[in-house]
Parts: sequence; structure tokens; C-alpha cells
Amino acid sequence: MSNAADLPKAEEEEEVTPDLQDLSDDSSDDEAAAGAEMDFLRNLFSSTLGLGSAEKVLDALTLEGVAQYIKSGKCKNIICMVGAGISTSAGIPDFRSPETGLYANLQKYNLPYPEAIFQIDYFKKHPEPFFTLAKELYPGQFKPTICHYFIKLLKNKGLLRRCYTQNIDTLERVAGLEKEDLIEAHGTFYTSHCVSFCCRKEYSLDWMKEKIFSDAIPKCEKCNSLVKPDIVFFGENLPARFFTSVKMDFPRCDLLIVMGTSLQVQPFAGLVGRVSKSCPRLLINMEKAGEADPMLGMLGFGGGMDFDSDKAYRDVAHISSCDDGCLALADLLGWKAELEALVKQEHAQIDSKDKKEQPGEAGGAAAKASSSSVKPEE
Ligand SMILES: [Zn+2]
Repeated sequence: MSNAADLPKAEEEEEVTPDLQDLSDDSSDDEAAAGAEMDFLRNLFSSTLGLGSAEKVLDALTLEGVAQYIKSGKCKNIICMVGAGISTSAGIPDFRSPETGLYANLQKYNLPYPEAIFQIDYFKKHPEPFFTLAKELYPGQFKPTICHYFIKLLKNKGLLRRCYTQNIDTLERVAGLEKEDLIEAHGTFYTSHCVSFCCRKEYSLDWMKEKIFSDAIPKCEKCNSLVKPDIVFFGENLPARFFTSVKMDFPRCDLLIVMGTSLQVQPFAGLVGRVSKSCPRLLINMEKAGEADPMLGMLGFGGGMDFDSDKAYRDVAHISSCDDGCLALADLLGWKAELEALVKQEHAQIDSKDKKEQPGEAGGAAAKASSSSVKPEE
């Protein structure tokens, strides 16, 4: 039971009674339905209690091994965990990172420190710098990447359990994932709310866009308080749905695909330890991430990735851009042509929509803003 302390979890998860553990030893393969339920229970116990065997599911700890597993039909619930790295090829910088140069334009606001722009208390007093940055980074100006459409393809094939994203750029939604497919752990620009607790009136993306591009500070039409996009600022809680969905999804996960994140922001990063001990985990990223800390391991807080040790049995690191990694995996799955066709078709649709919207929009402010932000090579 040395792994029981594996998971930094909330008290309410401890409700599993010890005598139910027996179920995990019961090998009833009689009928499919019962079997599926048992699989679920096994995963649940092994992930919440640190029980269960660490079965080796992949024949090889390579992208080929992962593809073979997906093709075997045993892998029905895939969870994707994604971060800023999946949107960089869309021209979206990691906007929380002070190194991106985005903060240079904000000097006139005399921020006490760059991150203050995302501090909820600072924002309520000084909203201007945030909205200046928002205009520059406005999400609707960008197209989803190959990686976004790969996730959509997983959905189309009935394999996607959920996509957990740290990104606020809404590109998952643009790529066709729906609200129930997505956990936007750090919130989204898609909706906005009045910051007054007594009001909380909701505003649409179009409403917010109009305000941002006309350089107006968005104010509630009902109570005149500030209106803020539903992204999670420092000092704010993650959406409640994040925590409830984690409990439902991770014990059922057959394959975890982690893309474009260095797994450094909690509680998001800790999610890799919430799948069962047998669940394979594929990382597609420019560098290895999420590896177990040997010090923490000794203290019993395991759950980190193990790509290279003698004991490695389920973690695969594919070091590449997210787009290249997804293309390579799609190729091994025999989906490459389908993925490329999907990207082409969706991008063409976005282009034709942009052309229709361009003339006469918000006094030309949007057109001006997009010409300064959109990369010419697109
Ligand atoms: Zn209001």
C-alpha cells in the first residue's frame, strides 16, 4: 500500500470502502457488459487507492506501440491533455509567459510586474492593460492546427473521452469539439461575465470582440460593472467542472495523450497520475516533461512519467512538434489522408467565412487589428 499516498486528492474521493477492493480480484469475464464494468472498477480502484497491477499494455514504448494499441480495439477512452504548445503553430504565443515579448507593448501602463495583468485584484482596479493585450491576442484571428484536428478526428472515431486544455484561445471549439468534449481548465474567451457577484450577466464572444476592438473597456449593460472573459486569472478558482470531470474521466481512461505542455502548472500537471497504473501515457512535446521526481518518489508521491528507466513500462515520449507528432501517429493509424483532408476542408471554410466578415466590421478596427497580428505566411 505504499502507493496509497500517490494522489494529491480531495477528501470526498476516499468514500471507496476497503471491502470493495475484493472486486478487483474477481475475474468474471462472462459477459461483455460485466467485463466492461469490472474494467472500470479495476481502474477506479487502482487509480484512487494505488492498487491493482501495473500491467504492460503496450508491446513497445514507441509511437508504433501506441498506434498498435489504438488499432487493437482495446483502447476506447482516450483523454487528451493539451497546453500552449499545440497552438504555437497557429501563431499564438504562450501569453502568460513574460519572455514572449508581448509585454513590451504594456510598458506605458507601468505594471508593477508583468503577471499583474492576470491578477484578478489588479484587473478589477486597472483593466486597461489586460484588454490591450486581449486585442493583440484576439483568438478569432487564428486557425486551429493539425493537432487540434487530430483531436477532432479522435472524437469522430468515437475514441475521445475528453480533451483537457490549459489554453484559452478557443481553438478546440473552432476545430469542432463541443462543450461536453472539453474541459477548459484555465477558462475560455468564448463567454464573458459581469464581475459583480450580484449580477454575473453573461456576454457572448461577439459582444466582447466588439468592445475589445473598439478600445472600450467592457462594462455590464445591467449594472455598469466590469465584464471579464471567463479565463481563469491568478487568484481565481478553476472551473468546478474541472474537478468533477477528472473524477469521472481518469479512472476510465485507456490512453492518455499529453501534448504541448511542460506539465508545470498544478493542478493540471498532477492529472497524469490520476489514470490507472496500467494506462499507457503518450507525451508529444518538444522536450520530455512530467517525469517523476526521485525525491518525491521516495516520499511516496509517485505518478510522474517514466520514459527511460529499467522499470519503464507504459510511458512513451515522442519528441517533436505537436503537429508532426499527430501526423506521424495518424500515419501509423492509417488516418493521415483523412486528417489532412479534414484540415484542408476546415481551413478553407474559415477562410471563406473571414472574407465574408471582413468588410464593414466595427469601423474597420478588427481588420486593422488582424492585419497587424496575423502571420503573413498563413
Ligand atoms: Zn452586471
